[in-house]
Parts: sequence; C-alpha cells; structure tokens
Amino acid sequence: MKTLITGGAGFIGSHLAERLLCEGHQVTALDSMSTGSWTNVQHLSSEPNFRLVDGSILDIDVLGPLVAEADTVYHLAAAVGVKLIMEQLVATLESNVQGTENVVRLAHEAGNKKVIIASSSEVYGKNPAVPWNEDDDILLGPTSFGRWGYACSKMLDEFLALAYNKEKGLPVVILRLFNTVGPRQSAQYGMVLPRFVSQAMAGKPLTVYGDGLQSRCFTYVGDVVNAIYDISQVTGAAGQVFNIGSDSEVNINQLAETVKDTLGSSSEIIHVPYNNAYGLEFEDVARRIPGIAKIQSYIDFQPRSDLGSVINEIASTIKSAHSAA
Ligand code: UDP
Repeated sequence: MKTLITGGAGFIGSHLAERLLCEGHQVTALDSMSTGSWTNVQHLSSEPNFRLVDGSILDIDVLGPLVAEADTVYHLAAAVGVKLIMEQLVATLESNVQGTENVVRLAHEAGNKKVIIASSSEVYGKNPAVPWNEDDDILLGPTSFGRWGYACSKMLDEFLALAYNKEKGLPVVILRLFNTVGPRQSAQYGMVLPRFVSQAMAGKPLTVYGDGLQSRCFTYVGDVVNAIYDISQVTGAAGQVFNIGSDSEVNINQLAETVKDTLGSSSEIIHVPYNNAYGLEFEDVARRIPGIAKIQSYIDFQPRSDLGSVINEIASTIKSAHSAA
C-alpha cells in the first residue's frame, strides 16, 4: 500500500512511519519542518520504502500529487503544543483549517482516498463531566482566549471531514488523541513531560503551572501509533470519531514527583502561575480523561499505564542525542 503521512517528520508521524514500514507499506512523509525535524526520521533514510518530502500542506502543488498517488493519507500535520499555539495564533488557525481543507478536498478529487485525521482531545474543551465519550457535548471558553481557537479549528476539521464523508462518500476516520508522550517529543513547544524530564536531567526546577491539581492521561506514543494503524485497517471505522488515550489519570504534581523519583533527581518542584507561563488570556483544562470503550470495540487497544518506563525511555533518548551532538 502507498501511504502519505502529513507531518511525517514530527513526533507522532515519525513513529507512525516506522509502524507502516514494518507492515511493508511505502511511506511518503510530507513535512514543512517547522516543528518536525530531519533527525526524527534520519534512521529511516536508508529504507527503500521511505521518502521524505520537505513541503507544506498549504501548498496544493506539492500536496495534490502526493495525495493522488497515495492509497491512504494519515493527516497528522498541525500546529503542536499549547506554548507554540499561544505564540502563533494565526499560523495555528491557518494550518489547521486551510491545511485540513486541502487534504480532504484533494483526497475527494483524487477518487475518495482513505483519510485518517489526527484530531485532539482539545475539542472537548473544559467539559467537567469526565470521562469524555465521542458524542459528548463540547464546552469551549471565550474567543478572546487563543487556546480555544485551536480547539475550534480542530472541531471545524472534524465537521468538514465528516461532511465530506456523509455528502461525498470520502472514507475518513477521526482520531482524538489525548496527551501523547514518548521519545522525540520536543520540550521546546511546551509539552509537560519532555519539559519535566529535561529539567530533572539538567538539575533545574520542575515548573508546575497553577496548583498542579489539573490532571491528564498520558499515552505512550507506541500505543497511539498502533491504534492509529489498526483502526485505519477497519473498513467499518469510516465516518466515525474515536478517542485514543490511556485511561490512567495523573495530576501534574504527581507527574513531577514521578519524574524526580524515576530519574533519582534532586531538582526542586516549583509552582508557576499560569499568567507567567501563558499570559493573562489563558485557562487550563482541569481534568482530561478519555472514554475508550468505543475504540476497544473496534480494535484490541490496551494502553500501558507505567509512566516510569516511558520517562526512562525519554531520558535515554535525550542522553543519546546530547552525546551525538
Ligand atoms: N504544564 C506544567 N508545566 C510545564 C508545562 C505544562 O505544569 O512546564 C501543565 C499544563 O499547564 C497542563 C499540563 O501540564 O495543565 C499538560 O500540559 P501540556 O502542554 O503537555 O498538554 P495540554 O494537556 O495542556 O494540551
């Protein structure tokens, strides 16, 4: 099978490329290298079935032919990280809205190619009624808070893709990914776990935002890409929305303690007010927990809950990157 991964040199995209190559598929990774990186896929460069294209989903002259030659498009290219999103509001909305529109339209024009779309748990917003199931209501904050623009852009992507499915028969599958973690996730864009691991390794304070009682379900990238691949093989999944995430909840204070204990670090844990981290126009999501019964009724999905081994794996990747530099 010929596959196209938009965002294929990104954190999740590069792991998905490995899984697809293992299955014997041809992989074209399209990446604008804004948050993706050549180093994420360097180890795949000698694979005859792998090709990296440096280009943007906003450039239809590049995207069009790649979609047309693919059997399945895994659309992962998007703005990543709350920090980056808050700093680049226009680019975030443009790449999420215009980029996804390009992908689904071109996939339709090329004869209704299968499209797997990476959406986000952000679309549930701050709905306090956790765990969240796919048909639950969505609760976003005001338009003056940039974070909700990201959520809204992902919602619009979902509406558009589902509209193409219903009206034009485009086989799309929407995947709402919850806090994915693992090696190659950059601390640079604000994600908490690579930040805490880097801080602990450097002997710097671990920066917990707010009171640290906000919680997340961190999901190992290997489990996420296996679920993405497995659900993409299920014909009956077209036109459906699925959560992909672990259901083990941990608050950010506990996460900081776990990172320290796992790495034997003596770093202190400090609490940083949200407005110092993200500015005044920000609100956080208090709890984020996926309901995973739906995806489990389609594929075998048993996400691991052992954060210690994930933390060790992230730390050893950071160490080897430093020694290679
Ligand atoms: N966070 C934190 N310290 C950091 C970075 C993030 O306490 O250095 C918090 C952040 O405010 C949020 C949680 O960790 O409550 C998860 O943040 P992340 O950006 O990884 O993902 P989000 O769930 O916000 O999309």
